[in-house]
Amino acid sequence: MSNAILVVGGGFSGLTAAIEAAELGHDVYIVEKTPFLGGRVAQLNKYFPKLCPPSCGLEIQFQRIRNNPRIKFFTLAQVTALSGTKGDYAVQVTVQPRYTAPHNADLGLFASALEGETANEFDFGLSKRKALYKSMPFAFPARYVLDPKSLTAADAAKLAGCKFVNLNEEPKTIELKVGAIVVATGWKPYDVTRLANLGAGQLKNVVSNMQFERLASPFGPTGGKIVRPSDGVAPRNVCFVQCAGSRDQNHLNYCSYICCMASIKQSLYLAEQLPDAHADVYYIDLRTPGRYVNVLDRCKATGKVSFVKGKVANLEQAEGDKVTVQVEDAIRGEKLTLTYDLVVLATGMQPTLSEDKLPLPLPLDDDGFVTGGEEAGIFAAGCAVMPLDVTRSAQTGTAAALKAVQAVKGR
Ligand code: SF4
Repeated sequence: MSNAILVVGGGFSGLTAAIEAAELGHDVYIVEKTPFLGGRVAQLNKYFPKLCPPSCGLEIQFQRIRNNPRIKFFTLAQVTALSGTKGDYAVQVTVQPRYTAPHNADLGLFASALEGETANEFDFGLSKRKALYKSMPFAFPARYVLDPKSLTAADAAKLAGCKFVNLNEEPKTIELKVGAIVVATGWKPYDVTRLANLGAGQLKNVVSNMQFERLASPFGPTGGKIVRPSDGVAPRNVCFVQCAGSRDQNHLNYCSYICCMASIKQSLYLAEQLPDAHADVYYIDLRTPGRYVNVLDRCKATGKVSFVKGKVANLEQAEGDKVTVQVEDAIRGEKLTLTYDLVVLATGMQPTLSEDKLPLPLPLDDDGFVTGGEEAGIFAAGCAVMPLDVTRSAQTGTAAALKAVQAVKGR
């Protein structure tokens, strides 16, 4: 029997759950499949409710993890098998190699000497990265990672003499004994290449809302300058397309909850950075739960943003790398054809578990959200359960941690 708790997923809700359980005296293991902790929040420019940068919330969490010897975390790691029952689980975890020395050596000079480049997934393809990389300045752990798939032969030769890189490192399998499990596997942005009427990811100056976050981030591909991907020029008019893939039975058959607020927030980025620019937000319904309606009022008060009730039917490439938008204004009953410098698709949240399954007895609904598991001592948190903002994700992380603690105490 074990008092330890496993947390699957190192995003905001998983980190919250881990810290809460550890501070109640339990050993906690975090298993995160990417090379760094922080999850989707780390990719944002600012997040609600205070519109602060991700560093302000995440660095506190990282500090609490560093200071708590009860928490152990494994990055590049995935749960590959589970046996046992509530209170007495044996969890097999496979840890992929990082290929770099097990300390925080600054490998920046080695990384910059490499020539091969590949699409940077952290910037959703808006930039390139080297095979040896760190995703952001406050990355945790603050260790470089090497991606052998994007390592050219010439770059491998350059790294051959580096004592901090070990290209022969092998995957490891470890076994953890835990009494309860928190599943905080999070979400991924809906794949825009499925949206044929919205350009299916092919139009030069159509970006997703998460790409827009990276454009606005000081650590993003443009150093925080909001520009068109095609030519690096600041846009003068921007269109936000709401419900891009959400509330559509052919795509995500639910409201993604955060994307109205994301577009309102991003319109504010635009109004602050480019006061001569104007944004039109085309929506079916504007969802501003609770006090978020104040942010909508603040956005309207700029006079730089128009909210138009109407569903965008089609996007096409226009001259000068502009984008033609066909939309029906639902209030006036008019069909409009307009051109914009930049279009932002308010793409929704898809639970990670919709495609990346876990070997856990975890019931999922048709969309991939967790619907149960508690009787087995497995508690889901954050966007593994439903689309949520960061505040509510953290609250569900705390709730899952408390349930997991009760499960191992009351077994
Ligand atoms: Fe559409 Fe807004 Fe719901 Fe997102 S939050 S799916 S944009 S109504």
